[in-house]
Amino acid sequence: MISRAFQVLVAVAALVVPGLLAGCATAPATGRTFFTGGMSPEDEARLGLQEHEKIVPQFGGVYENAALSAYISSIGNLLVQTSEIPNQQFTFTVLDSPIVNAFALPGGYVYVTRGLLALADSEAEVAGVLAHEIGHVAARHSAERYGQTMAANLAGVGLGVLLGNKAATDTFTAISSVALRSFSREQEYESDVLGVRYLTRAGFDANAMAGFLSKLLADSRLEAELAGQPGRADDFNIMQTHPRTADRVQRAIAEAGVVTVKDPIVGRDIYLGKIDGMLYGDNPDQGLIRGRQFVHPALRFAFTVPEGFRLANSSQSVIARGPEGAGFLFDQARESGGGSMTSYLTQVWAKGVPVQNVEAITINGMPAATGEVSVNGRSGPRDLRAVAIRYDDQTIYRMVFVTPAKLTDSLSRPFRETTYSFRKLSAAEAAAVKPWRLVLHKVRRGETAGTLAERMPFPDHRLERFQVLNGLEDNSPLPAGRTVKLIVE
Ligand SMILES: [Zn+2]
Repeated sequence: MISRAFQVLVAVAALVVPGLLAGCATAPATGRTFFTGGMSPEDEARLGLQEHEKIVPQFGGVYENAALSAYISSIGNLLVQTSEIPNQQFTFTVLDSPIVNAFALPGGYVYVTRGLLALADSEAEVAGVLAHEIGHVAARHSAERYGQTMAANLAGVGLGVLLGNKAATDTFTAISSVALRSFSREQEYESDVLGVRYLTRAGFDANAMAGFLSKLLADSRLEAELAGQPGRADDFNIMQTHPRTADRVQRAIAEAGVVTVKDPIVGRDIYLGKIDGMLYGDNPDQGLIRGRQFVHPALRFAFTVPEGFRLANSSQSVIARGPEGAGFLFDQARESGGGSMTSYLTQVWAKGVPVQNVEAITINGMPAATGEVSVNGRSGPRDLRAVAIRYDDQTIYRMVFVTPAKLTDSLSRPFRETTYSFRKLSAAEAAAVKPWRLVLHKVRRGETAGTLAERMPFPDHRLERFQVLNGLEDNSPLPAGRTVKLIVE
């Protein structure tokens, strides 16, 4: 979990407009000249590796499944062979993240999350995703984007200096790179045209790309609904990093002018066989989200966020987004015991930040401290409440609640409840927490989407989740013998 979250929030709340960097390059796939931050292909390879090492832990690390990794790489490398850059070394990585996403870094680093793989139904659908990402690399969009990320990081440097705290700079840099920037619609279109070429040359049906996109859109809509924000896609998902519409993908297929592939590869059974038993949702080693509760069986604690807040977990921190820009951030600091928690809060964690109304409190037997600070953010005044809790001799857990000033009063009680919900888990409680897995199921006569959905462990929207997971449009009868995906505990 990211240390010094407090300064980061101050920094993010006050974020200024990124500066600009110079430099142009020409992409092999498009012949187009664009802004790259002055990177040669060698620079790209080096920076790609550097970002790779940062980004992998931020997305839960590599998903440890050698057979699945080798399979994804083999599909990816087959597609690379058909591209304008067949000799470029590519690295395909399956990330241990439940978020549905795929992205590429300069130097041929391509990522898919296991969240995305769970949603796919065939080799052709995954090939469509990989081909699109390879298109971004071939057109050097990620180099272009990296130029922009560096610009954003420079803004972070300015703020760090402003706060007199280098730590804030480092952490902000980490956050900027994890908050992957979205590509432009033109870049998305270009990658689709390129991706369609690679797909068909490799023997897949180009329409698999459009088909999977509609599943991704359905998932995105469901996620937005689950977040209590229907009509607004999740900030972390693939629609944010790759803004696309079904219409534009269809147009890209037409523009690519490819011939129809006879007997295209679909590879449904082989693909499903590879993801059977895959972890679904959070990895318990990183803590699990169960509705509004966050449970960490490995680190042995739990807490509950207020109603209307939606939790998201990363390897560095846990965040929850609430109404109208309200937010919550939770992380861990390794800090050995000794001093009081109030002095930790004011002298260590929020050093140099004017924290008000500092108070020593006790949370379920654990010494803690809390205080407030007001900042003027880009989107208006924000109140921050910080809570630091001494868990054991080596460990402090920290919460930061952020509210637009007008919501501070109404959220103060729910935030208090969240603060005091933090508790240790017993060994038995920790052992009882089980992760979810994706398993295959052959439909038997009489079973429907409705009856199968009821077996899944989700607290709500079971039918919708089953339909999205299986790419089903409605509750029409499932043919007996068809293989479907189920989530089980
Ligand atoms: Zn894209």
